[in-house]
Amino acid sequence: MIQKLVDTTVSKGRAERELDLSPRFEKFLRKKFKETEIKQIDLEALIKKYHLKGVVFGNYMSQEERYFYCFKTFKQIECLAKLKGSNDIGAGILILSIGAHGIGGNVLAHFSPRENIINLSRGRKDDYSDFMKGENSFVHEYGHFIDFYQGRMKDKTLMHNFASENKNPDWKNQITTGFSAPVIEVKSDESYTKHLRTPYLKSNIEVFARLFEAAITHYVHAHAPAYNAFFPRTYTEGIYYPKSKILKKGYDKKIVSVLRSSL
Ligand SMILES: [Zn+2]
Repeated sequence: MIQKLVDTTVSKGRAERELDLSPRFEKFLRKKFKETEIKQIDLEALIKKYHLKGVVFGNYMSQEERYFYCFKTFKQIECLAKLKGSNDIGAGILILSIGAHGIGGNVLAHFSPRENIINLSRGRKDDYSDFMKGENSFVHEYGHFIDFYQGRMKDKTLMHNFASENKNPDWKNQITTGFSAPVIEVKSDESYTKHLRTPYLKSNIEVFARLFEAAITHYVHAHAPAYNAFFPRTYTEGIYYPKSKILKKGYDKKIVSVLRSSL
């Protein structure tokens, strides 16, 4: 199948490339995601549908890498939209950047609030099943985006950039407290916070994004298992609030409510 995926935020021409996806790559996609038919991706249509501003790629990204990231990330977006009950995922401002804005080191992904960009870094190209890791982090970074959108753009009286940074349990904006209250609760659990050894891991912003990522994943596994292949992680790691407690304390449903109230 011939597929062409190019930046949507710049004029076309220079970066335009058209390549066949190899039979080996298509076989990998069918096996990993149990897809019977590998379809063309219409990037412009997806951007419009989910109200994104655009998608950009690193120049060194092959068409197969572009296809893989878009295929997987837009399946995650499709699932988030279903949970949210709305296709407005990007508020018309969110840019998805794939393999273009690496910040070095082992960072697989990050959210840049200044430009409203979610960057998914390019992984190692040893094997299809291993080389594209940044795409697993989209949901985490999306948690940062809606947290920032609520704190900076929606709640005009909040003196923080991110809603999760609110420390007042009686804050009058209840959408903001939807972000901050679960963070305050899980940070009162010492059996969890003992794993958070750096100021970055301890920050409300990071605790919220990890809780968002893990809680959404559990909710998908329980209520939308058709998407399981796109939410493969299990979150037993110490820096994530443990799955057993997320389920016991109902954070999966609380976080889905946060997603529904966002934007
Ligand atoms: Zn983060």
